[in-house]
Amino acid sequence: MKLQSVFKLLFVSVLILGWIVNPNSSQARVQTNDLHLPIAYSKERAEKITHVMIHFISNAANNPQDPYNVNDVYRIFLDYGVSTHYMIGRNGEIYKMVNEDRVAFHAGKGSLPRFPAYSNNMNDYSIGIELLAIGTRDEMLPVIPAKSYDSISLSDIGFTEAQYRSLNRLLDDILDRHPFIKKDRNYIVGHEEYAPNRKTDPGKLFTWASVDFSQKHTVTKGETLWAIAKKYGVTIHDIATFNNMHSSSYLQVGQTLRIPAMYTVMSRDTLWEIAQKYGISVDTLVKWNGLENTYLQVGNRLRVPSGTIPYTVKSGDTLWRIAQNYNVSIDTIIKVNNLNPRAYLRIGQKLSIPR
Ligand SMILES: [Zn+2]
Repeated sequence: MKLQSVFKLLFVSVLILGWIVNPNSSQARVQTNDLHLPIAYSKERAEKITHVMIHFISNAANNPQDPYNVNDVYRIFLDYGVSTHYMIGRNGEIYKMVNEDRVAFHAGKGSLPRFPAYSNNMNDYSIGIELLAIGTRDEMLPVIPAKSYDSISLSDIGFTEAQYRSLNRLLDDILDRHPFIKKDRNYIVGHEEYAPNRKTDPGKLFTWASVDFSQKHTVTKGETLWAIAKKYGVTIHDIATFNNMHSSSYLQVGQTLRIPAMYTVMSRDTLWEIAQKYGISVDTLVKWNGLENTYLQVGNRLRVPSGTIPYTVKSGDTLWRIAQNYNVSIDTIIKVNNLNPRAYLRIGQKLSIPR
């Protein structure tokens, strides 16, 4: 055999071996439904993936009575020449439309203040997730006649709990495979933050507090709670409470720990802006971190409540009491659950409490 052929053979073997060891590193491991867009609706990816961008889409402008017909929405992508990697339906079903190893056309023109190099080419660095949802009247009027908007069923406006659950599962899965996407709000962004003059999605009805920014850690041999806490910039106590365990508990190799959501302060950050991004109040942020003043230092790590836990209202509960028990603001509970602040809680009512 000629040397050249040997190399060729070697190269092919490495490719095949790589495929066997890691057959689908760019494929989601959560269950998805194939709804692939034609290949012309994406391009080859050349850059590292560092961001996830969240959107909403619906067919409300054409059919306000049936805005979430998947075939109709698929048609919108085709007609407008845009695309996304994933789309999450009202019941939490996840559609796969473009492979992650290809660039989808979801972000368009815009810029993120923290990432000037990404101006107008965010698609190259990101994974797009569309949620089937409709925003507020103000957000939608530029694209839907007022009369049509007002005829939309109330249950079709905003996002569903099932969508948040699926989004959290999908994000977990994506971040497992793309280590350059940091699990914080500078890397998981909304379309409106990138294109504020053009886009309103995912908008005011999207509760960022329901997105789980906590992280998963799998214990390796010889690892101690102390080492893990140090690695993530949290305290041992933080991890222990978050995982409902004692801080002197014995760790098992392969055991999965949840690391509470943390935000690393970047230059020009303000408490107000950070709170806003996570859908929580400044008060909550101050309380959770025991801050004594509002001065922030670049690189500071802040603990942020994130993701939600289910709660069933018991006799004698008030919003105030639940908020106290879970150390979150009443406003956050109201917003996350879309409650009328003047309405009474019903026994047995299901609430979502952000962590
Ligand atoms: Zn969008």
